[in-house]
Formats: sequence, C-alpha cells, structure tokens
Amino acid sequence: MKKQSVIVLGSTGSIGRQTLEVLKLHSDRFRLIGISAHRDFETLARQAKAFSVPYVACTLGGDQEQLPTGTTLFCGANACERLAEIPSDVVVLAVLGIAALKPLLKAIPNTKRIAIANKESLVCGGALVDAALKEHHTELLPIDSEQSAIFQCLQNGRKEEVSRLILTCSGGPFFRKTEEELKTVTMEDVLCHPTWRMGRKITLDSATLFNKGLEVIEAARLFHLSGEQISVLIHPQSIVHSMVEYRDGTVSANLSLPDMRLPIQYALTYPERLESPCTPLRLEQCKDLSFHEASSKALELAYAALRAEGGCPIVYNGANEQAAELFFQNKIAFLDIYRCVEAALSAYRPSEVGTYAGIEAVDSWARTFVTAYAAQIQ
Ligand code: NDP
Ligand code: MG
Repeated sequence: MKKQSVIVLGSTGSIGRQTLEVLKLHSDRFRLIGISAHRDFETLARQAKAFSVPYVACTLGGDQEQLPTGTTLFCGANACERLAEIPSDVVVLAVLGIAALKPLLKAIPNTKRIAIANKESLVCGGALVDAALKEHHTELLPIDSEQSAIFQCLQNGRKEEVSRLILTCSGGPFFRKTEEELKTVTMEDVLCHPTWRMGRKITLDSATLFNKGLEVIEAARLFHLSGEQISVLIHPQSIVHSMVEYRDGTVSANLSLPDMRLPIQYALTYPERLESPCTPLRLEQCKDLSFHEASSKALELAYAALRAEGGCPIVYNGANEQAAELFFQNKIAFLDIYRCVEAALSAYRPSEVGTYAGIEAVDSWARTFVTAYAAQIQ
C-alpha cells in the first residue's frame, strides 16, 4: 500500500505531538513530510530528525544547521502557509487561534483531506472554508472530540432525520463555583483541568466555557445546522463525547475514555478503524455518568453571535483570544474575560464579511477594542 503523505501544522503543540505519536504507530501507512511551529524550534528540530521530515516551517525563525542535511526550512510570517502549499494527502491543522485560517485556506487546494483540530478558523471563516472545500473537492474531518463524536453519530441516520446535536462539556475546573469564588481565580487554578491535558489557551477556554461557545459555532459550521439545533450538557466525566438526537427520539452517543489520540487517528484513517494505543472503556468501572444543564455567559454570547452572524462570531473569537492573552499577562482578572467579550459584541455593528481581508479587519477591531476596554476597567 502506498504511504499517505501528511503535513502537521502546529506539530509542537498538544494536538501536534499526539498526532506524531499516532503517525509513529502507523508508520506503515503514513509518511510525515512537513511540520510547523511558531517559536519552539528546538522541539521542531527534534521532530524533524526523529521522522526525517523534508519540510519544516517556523514563523519566528530557526537554524538550518540544527536540521538534517537537505531539509527545506521556511521562516517568517508566511512560513506556515508556504508549508501548507506543499502537495500532500492529509494536512492536520493543529495551529492555535485564528492564525490557522490562512494556512487552512492555502492547504485546501493542495491536499485531499484536512483533519482539523483548530476551531477558531471555522468559527471565523466557515463560509470561505466551505467554498474552497467544494471548489477543490477536499474532505474536512474533525479532530475536536465533540465534533468527531457527532460526525460518527451522524452515520446512524440521515441529515433530515436529525432533530438536534447535544454537545457535552466537562464543565472545567470551576463547575458549580459561585461568582464570588471565581473573582479570585488564578492562572494555576485555571490550568488544572479535571479530565483533559491540553494547550493553555484551550484549557482557559474550558474553564470560562468559551471553548464550548466556540464549539457550538464550530458544530454549526461543520454540520450546517442552526444554533437552535445544537444544545450543550455538562458531563463532568468526559466519557460521552457528544450525541445526536434523531426525530424518532433515538439518541446516538459516542463513548470512550478521554484520549485525543482516538479522534486524531479516526480523522486520519476514516472510514477505516485501526488498532489504537488508547485504553478501552470498561463501563462497569465507571461509577457514574451524570449530565447537567449548562448555563454560562460564554454560551449565551455564542448563541447570540451565531444568530446575528454579520461578523459577530469573529468578534466573539477575537475578543476572547485577546482577553485570554491579557489574563495570561496578569492584566485582567478571570471574570473580566466575560466583560471584555460582552462589551466588544455590544459595541460592534454587524455587517456582512465575505473576504479574508474582511475577517482580518473585524478580528483586529475586536482585539483593539478589548485592549482599550481592559485598560479602562483596571
Ligand atoms: P498548543 O498551544 O499546545 O499548540 C499550538 C500549536 O500552534 C504549536 O505548535 C504552536 O507553536 C503553534 N502556533 C501557535 N501560535 C501560532 C501562530 N501564530 N502561527 C503559527 N503557529 C502557531 O495548542 P493545542 O494543541 O492545545 O490546540 C491547538 C488547536 O486545537 C486549538 O485551536 C484548539 O482549540 C484545538 N483543540 C485542542 C485540543 C487539545 O486537546 N489540546 C482538543 C480539541 C481542539 P509553538 O509550540 O512554537 O508555540
Ligand atoms: Mg472539544
């Protein structure tokens, strides 16, 4: 069997590293031909040697000397896009934030399948991505565990038979905490997620529930449904990864122990299922599986942004990315993140955004707004 060529954009991150583990396990099927990072060149160089990767990209620059002879190195602001243009069978998109959108649009014409972990690019550029996928007949397979679960559950019925999607949500480390308790939350508290080990921005988003808000919009983009057809349930054990309810009342669910290598592998091998390194689920050992209604400002704002469209999802994402950055820099408190995103959405005048430049402009407006607003509330 001819090996499939794979490019992993964001190979040094949490999803990127786990993708490389899966590729190593199935090295008889896959050949890693490209990897990228933003600043962590050391890890990138180690990965390049371990996998003999011919193309390497690092936006903040790197040293050709540290790479095996003959490796092509792309550096600078558009390094990731140049790598994305190398022809391949699969591109794994594991870059963080809206920075993933441009490489995604560059990759679509040059690959057969995009396995997508990044959600911010779909939230902001869903329509552009859809049009490009259609034009170039490129497949899009979700890696995000909830979307992978829904993708799998949707194989049990027809699109017109679906009554709603039910996204599950661990609730993060602060489930059931009062507003008073949340006032003094620190970065260390936030980075202590109960069920998943992930990069720090998504870990913060899981604590604020902005991650789930982004996933509601991501699900609407991926499965072409309205916000009314997507609900969220808190499920602290992270065993049921999401569900689809059909019009006859049947609910299909996808279950496993929480391990991102599973949805990563499925996105790479679909429609096949191969052996995986993941521990099988023994339901008899799960003491209880509980489900609770979800309510959060982050979800309210996501549904409102999705209803309004006109660039509101871009503001939702950009304001949250900027507020997260300010929280990491210790410039705002945990609860200020909600204030920043809500204020940005109220100040924004919705208007149709149909181009990449338009998306960039709205994103930049949201970031500038949040920086100024945060300085004011201090
Ligand atoms: P990490 O922060 O761990 O990794 C991010 C990767 O992107 C790194 O390789 C990083 O390089 C690179 N990167 C960061 N900023 C830029 C930039 N401006 N330009 C180019 N490359 C950049 O993130 P995660 O792996 O946790 O998450 C990646 C994406 O996957 C996110 O969109 C997240 O929402 C999504 N996701 C993650 C899950 C998880 O379990 N972690 C689960 C589901 C979805 P460097 O290392 O040099 O900084
Ligand atoms: Mg998820």
